[in-house]
Amino acid sequence: MTDVINHPAYKIPVKTVASYYDLHWKEEYKSLRAYNRDVGEETSITLVRPRSKEELLRLGEALVKIYEYYRGFFGRSPDYMNLWTMVFFAHAEDYFGKNFGSKFMENAMEIYRESTKRDHFYTHAIVAPMYDRSRPPSQWEDPYIQIGVTEERQDGVVVRGAAMICTAGPYAEMLWYLPNMRRDSDPRYAIYFSIPTTSKGVRFISRRGFQPREGGEFEYPISSKWEESDSILVLDNVLVPWDRIIFYKKPELIEDLMWHTVGLRGWFNWHFMIQHYARLKFLAGLAMTVTEAANTNTFINVQEKIGEILIYLAMNEAALYGSVARAQELPNIVRPDPYISISASHFNMKAVPRANEILRLITAGSSIPIPAGAKDFTNPEERAYLDKYMAMKGLDALERVKTFNLLWDVIGSEVGMRYEQYDRFSRGDPTIRWAQTYTEVFKDRKGEFVRLVKEILDQMPNPRS
Ligand SMILES: Cc1cc2nc3c(=O)[nH]c(=O)nc-3n(C[C@H](O)[C@H](O)[C@H](O)COP(=O)(O)OP(=O)(O)OC[C@H]3O[C@@H](n4cnc5c(N)ncnc54)[C@H](O)[C@@H]3O)c2cc1C
Repeated sequence: MTDVINHPAYKIPVKTVASYYDLHWKEEYKSLRAYNRDVGEETSITLVRPRSKEELLRLGEALVKIYEYYRGFFGRSPDYMNLWTMVFFAHAEDYFGKNFGSKFMENAMEIYRESTKRDHFYTHAIVAPMYDRSRPPSQWEDPYIQIGVTEERQDGVVVRGAAMICTAGPYAEMLWYLPNMRRDSDPRYAIYFSIPTTSKGVRFISRRGFQPREGGEFEYPISSKWEESDSILVLDNVLVPWDRIIFYKKPELIEDLMWHTVGLRGWFNWHFMIQHYARLKFLAGLAMTVTEAANTNTFINVQEKIGEILIYLAMNEAALYGSVARAQELPNIVRPDPYISISASHFNMKAVPRANEILRLITAGSSIPIPAGAKDFTNPEERAYLDKYMAMKGLDALERVKTFNLLWDVIGSEVGMRYEQYDRFSRGDPTIRWAQTYTEVFKDRKGEFVRLVKEILDQMPNPRS
């Protein structure tokens, strides 16, 4: 395909990305740009590595600004991968250089510098196709369903296989491939690299577009404005040059990358937490607007449920500022407190879908009998009925229809439902992640909690027989 920009499936996603870059040049969004000491010029703040708590706070607040603009949608905006690239740069020496040698360190630094110059839009892929989750991909009938290295050459390595899900693949400029792995994974899968999406052998197989029909702004105010497209990534014997690889064949080093030296899990969950904090603000506003219209907000059960959304929101607000106040000040970067940011992001895997469920519960059938389109309001005979019977106590008919179209685009449309899957699963499965909060995240703080129990136990008498 040559005309991605005008293809019906990508038109809105491409516009969404363009709006993101334009935002940086609007006066009221100038905080999205900052002087970047590492390259000696102004770049997106999402590529500036924070060296103090103040700078980390500035980055966090810039992300809030971005996500408030998108109302918490556009989860795979360019800044998500910017953050990863920036964190890799910050740890080029103490992680990539130390473990993989100076060539890989230089690669991490050069990929970052390139991003700061060109403001690349990256897609990324992490997860192997869902072929047989009960066995590792090395034991599948074809071990190259998951992307793996098939050949090492002087000019690079050849990789073959696929990954799901790859949001924005067909219209992104660059690809980060960063597979999920365990310390005992087959080393052929243990590779992180960055290549142009136009590299020979790179394919994206897209899902169908969820975009509304032409001119759907009235019926689908969110999905006609902001959409993302998802795909399966296929790498059909792709040559990855050595200078695009930063992690290679040492799966046993993955935990140090995720949890310790680099602390990647803390970083990307911090980003998720901010996306969802902005979304919860929007959902709270939506819950208030739709219930105040017909006075259902006067009922205690409705108030309780709106209160529930607000509690989630306040906990995210506390998590954002708490994660900065208790940030870890390393010599090469200041990073958000991982206990807080990871827990908040894991919490949101259930809290945000619950907020959507609350919207469904408190609005019952009111978002269903909505006239088919804006045209209904142009027919004078029908308009008279609409003005009388579609109005709510607090909203005239037109405002009521607009409001409930917005509601449906969040809780019922294809885009709305896709986002709900995203909110729940974009960091993996919630059951596994919640369990990991215990088995991994707080592992090194166990003594702090258990001591509180043990001290009491030690003070209790030991009766003698
Ligand atoms: C809309 C959307 C967009 C996304 N975009 C991207 C993207 O751009 N890039 C990217 O890399 N990722 C993306 N993801 C995330 C990713 O691709 C996966 O969907 C996500 O990591 C969850 O993995 P999975 O779907 O393979 O489910 P699985 O983890 O396979 O889970 C499926 C089910 O099996 C159960 N299960 C699986 N394994 C186990 C186990 N070991 N023990 C117990 N139960 C188990 C789970 O509990 C779950 O119920 C996106 C996800 C969504 C929904």
